[in-house]
Amino acid sequence: MKKGVPTQSAVIDHQNGSQMSYKNKCEKCGTMSSSINTLSVPGPRQMYTNNFPCMKCGNQQRVEIIGE
Ligand SMILES: [Zn+2]
Repeated sequence: MKKGVPTQSAVIDHQNGSQMSYKNKCEKCGTMSSSINTLSVPGPRQMYTNNFPCMKCGNQQRVEIIGE
């Protein structure tokens, strides 16, 4: 079964076969977003990326989720 592993700025909320969801997590201040992002689980060694600014400290950062 495919699996996505966050390497930075994300915490997995739910993972179910080909779909997964995560919350943004600020690497600077640790704030977690309340909204949930859903995506297709990346294939092996594929990387999903997304950018977001922290709602609390404004730190601009990049989410990275790697498929296994
Ligand atoms: Zn922050």
